[in-house]
Formats: sequence, structure tokens, C-alpha cells
Amino acid sequence: MTSDITNFSTFNVSSKSRKTYFSGLSILRNIAKFYGIIIAAVIIFLWATTLITLIYIDVSNLGFLWLIPAILLQTFLYAGLFITAHDAMHGVVFPTNLKINHAIGAITVFLYGLFSYQNLLKKHWLHHRYPATELDPDYHDRIHKSFFGWYFYFMKGYSNWKQLLGLALVFLLLAEGLHIAKINLVLFWIFPSLLSSLQLFYFGTYLTHREPKEGYTNQHRATSNNLSPFWSFITCYHFGYHKEHHEHPHLPWWKLPEVYQK
Ligand SMILES: [Zn+2]
Ligand SMILES: [Zn+2]
Repeated sequence: MTSDITNFSTFNVSSKSRKTYFSGLSILRNIAKFYGIIIAAVIIFLWATTLITLIYIDVSNLGFLWLIPAILLQTFLYAGLFITAHDAMHGVVFPTNLKINHAIGAITVFLYGLFSYQNLLKKHWLHHRYPATELDPDYHDRIHKSFFGWYFYFMKGYSNWKQLLGLALVFLLLAEGLHIAKINLVLFWIFPSLLSSLQLFYFGTYLTHREPKEGYTNQHRATSNNLSPFWSFITCYHFGYHKEHHEHPHLPWWKLPEVYQK
């Protein structure tokens, strides 16, 4: 009888704790669905608030020692904006609602430099399908192989006169319409966006897809850098764990260290 009571109460307790355990798990799983969108929102928020703060500060009061970190911080946040768009292209910013996911991608590339998300999406798909070949829009043309030669060739493939005209109009509107100092726009809007394009190209295309001396050794024709997760994040949001990105394109940038193997 006693043992029956004990068994009964044990069953009750364990079934109750099992219930709590599973409901806890389902809450965690539900929160996990929003990780991508939360991280994207944080990056967009930091990019926007830092940019607004910096374009309104009086540069003459800001010492040279503060100017460099301010530009570098904004460059890093610009890269984050593009990395978010890149994750959206892979459908991993908000996998449970692809409409919202692609809307975030479209907003981030537009904020980054008035790019067309559809165009970038199409080209990025080609990059993953035919990496480092003549069909890859991110690859050099076998003439422009040097860092800057390849960078300008790459940038030409992603820019057009309509976009450049649009950026010039935004500059005029901000400078003449909102009376924002031109020097601030150059230092904290133009410089960081250009520097981040160099950063993204260097860590995510040049180092990772240039042909190694011994030739390509895997089907993705990609390599990864051997930086620690901390430096990999600081340098380019783990975009340098590029072989892993090609092997696991469904993983968001912040999960790449989990699959990275030195
Ligand atoms: Zn790649
Ligand atoms: Zn990709």
C-alpha cells in the first residue's frame, strides 16, 4: 500500500515536472524562432542611432583620437547591416515568415546603399551555385585578380548610375534640406559605407575565394580564415568562416562558430 502511494506520488511529481520541462522547452523553442529577427533589429537600431548621433556632432570638438574609432564603429555597423541582408537572402533572419524575412533584407540593402534586394538575391544565389567560376558574379574576370582590381570589378558589377544618382540626391537632401554638415556626412556616412564594402569584400570574397597556390580543394572553392570566434566576429561577423557558410548556408552568421573547424 505504502509503495503504491509512493509510486503514485512519484508518478505525479515526475509527470508534473516532465510537463513543466516540456512547456519550458517549447517556450525556449518559441523564443529561439525570434533570435534572428532580434539580432537584426539590434544591428539596425545601433546602426541608425550611431549614424544619427555622429552626423549631428560638432566634428571640430571631436579630437582626432575619437574620430578614428567613431568611423570604425560605424564601418562595423554598416558591415552588420549587410550581413543581416545576406542572412535574409538565405532566409535565416526570420525563417518562420519569409515575407518578413525578405522585407528585412530589402530594407537593410536599401539602407546600406540603395541596393536592389532582388538583384543581390539573384547574384548571391549564382555565387553559391557556381562559386569562384566565370558564372559567379562575385568572382574576378581572370584579368582583375589583384585585391583592388578585383574589388573595383566586383563593385562595378553591383552598382549602377541610378543608384549613384539616388545616393547623390540623398546627400544633397541631407546637406541642403536638413542642414547636416557635409563633413559629417562624408566622415560618418560615405566613408564607413565604403570602408565596410572593402571589409566585406576582403574577408568574405578576396581571402575566401581567391585561388590557393595548390588550387581549390573543395567543391565550394572556398577557404576559411583561422581567427578565433572573437576576432572572426570583430573582423566581419564570422563571414570569414566562409567554407562553413557554403557548407551550411541555412545557418545564421552567429551560429557559424559552432560548425567552424580549424
Ligand atoms: Zn562565398
Ligand atoms: Zn551566402
